[in-house]
Amino acid sequence: MNELNAQEYMDREARYGAHNYHPLPVVLERGEGVFVWDVEGNKYFDFLAAYSAVNQGHCHPKIVKALTDQAQKLALTSRAFYNNVLGEWEEYMTSLFGYDKMLPMNSGAEADETALKLIRKWAYKVKGVPKGEAKIIVCNGNFHGRTITIISMSSDPDAYNDYGPYTPGFINIPYNNVKALEKALEDPNVAGFLVEPIQAEAGVYVPEDGFLRKAFDLCKENNVLFVADEVQTGLARTGKMLACDHEDVRPDILILGKAISGGMFPVSCVLADDEIMLTIKPGEHGSTYGGNPIAAKVAIAAMEVIREENLAENAERLGKIFRKKLKSIDSELIEIVRGKGLLNAVVIKPVNGKSAWDVCVALKNNGLLAKPTHEHIIRFTPPLVITEEQLIEAIGIIEKTFAEIGI
Ligand code: PLP
Repeated sequence: MNELNAQEYMDREARYGAHNYHPLPVVLERGEGVFVWDVEGNKYFDFLAAYSAVNQGHCHPKIVKALTDQAQKLALTSRAFYNNVLGEWEEYMTSLFGYDKMLPMNSGAEADETALKLIRKWAYKVKGVPKGEAKIIVCNGNFHGRTITIISMSSDPDAYNDYGPYTPGFINIPYNNVKALEKALEDPNVAGFLVEPIQAEAGVYVPEDGFLRKAFDLCKENNVLFVADEVQTGLARTGKMLACDHEDVRPDILILGKAISGGMFPVSCVLADDEIMLTIKPGEHGSTYGGNPIAAKVAIAAMEVIREENLAENAERLGKIFRKKLKSIDSELIEIVRGKGLLNAVVIKPVNGKSAWDVCVALKNNGLLAKPTHEHIIRFTPPLVITEEQLIEAIGIIEKTFAEIGI
C-alpha cells in the first residue's frame, strides 16, 4: 500500500517543490519496458520515455545489473584519481563513433556547455580568432538545456526571460536555412555551428533532406566546426544510431546525453578529435561526477542494449508504421503528423477549445502518457524496445482518444 493517494503526492510536490514544471496529473511508481504504473496500479504506455532518455525501456535488466554491480564496488572517485572503468568506456565510445577522444559529463546541458567551451578554445588556439572575439552560430527554436549561457542562445522567451544579462558571442539564424548559414559564415570570427539534427524540444522540426550535409560542407569551406547536439536525436531514436548518419555527416564535435545511460543515471559526453579535444588542458574544465565508475559501466551497458537489440532498425521500421497510421486518423484536431524514426509529433489545431493538453489528459485516461510541447504540439517518443504489436495497441488508444474527443 502507498502511504499517500495520488492527489496527496501531487499536493506534497506542489507544497514543497519549486514550480518549474507542470506535470500531467499522474503519479508514477514503477516502470518496465514500454510501460509505467501509477500509485493506483493503473498501467500506461510511456510515450514520452523521459524525453527520449529511456530508449532502452524502463529498468532494462542489463542496465540495472551494470548499475547495481558497480554501485557495490566503487561509485565515485572524482577525476583526482584514475579509476579502472572510465578508460574502458572512453575506448568503447571512441571506437564506436570514430573519434580520438571522449569527455564525460552528467547532464545534456553540461555536455553542450563543454562543446561551447571546446569551440571557443579551438577558435583561439587553432583557428586564430582574436581573443574574446569568437562567435558561434545557433538556430532559432533551439533547445540545448537550461544554463545561463545556453538560454542566451535561445529564441524562446519562456527559456530566457528575466535571466539576463546574457552570454554574448552567438549569432542566431533561422533553422533549416542554408542561405542564412552561408551569410553568417562570412564573419571570419565564427568558430562553430551548433545544431540539433532535428529540433525535438521545439516540436520535432525535421529539416529538409540534405540540410545537414550542406551545412556541414559550408562549415568545412569556412574552417568552422560543425557541432551536433544529438542529446535527444541520438542513439537510435530517429532510426539510425545518430540522426546525422541519415546524411553521412560526421560532426566535428558530437554531443550525447539522455539515452546514453538508458535513463538509469545522469550521463552525457562530448566526442571530438585530438585537434579539438586537446585544446583543453588539465584543470581547465571538469566535473566532480563526470566519468564516475557507475556512469561508465551503465553507459557501456546502455550502448550495448541499443546495438544488441537493434533499436535503430526497430525505430526506423515502426516509425513508418506509426506515422502512416496517425496520418490516417480522421480528426479535425490533427493538423500535421511529422517525425523520423520514433521521434514524432502531432500538431494539434485547437478546435472547440480543445488543446494539446486536453488531448494528453484524455490519452492518459485511456492508458497512454504523452506531453504537449509548446502548447499545441504532442510529442510521441516511446521507448525503442516497443514491439509492433504494442505499437498497434498504442495507436488504437490514440485513435480511440481522438474519436472520443469527438471532433
Ligand atoms: N540538448 C537537447 C537537444 C535536448 O533535447 C536536451 C534536453 O531535452 C538537452 C540538450 C539538455 O539535456 P539535460 O536536460 O540533460 O540537461
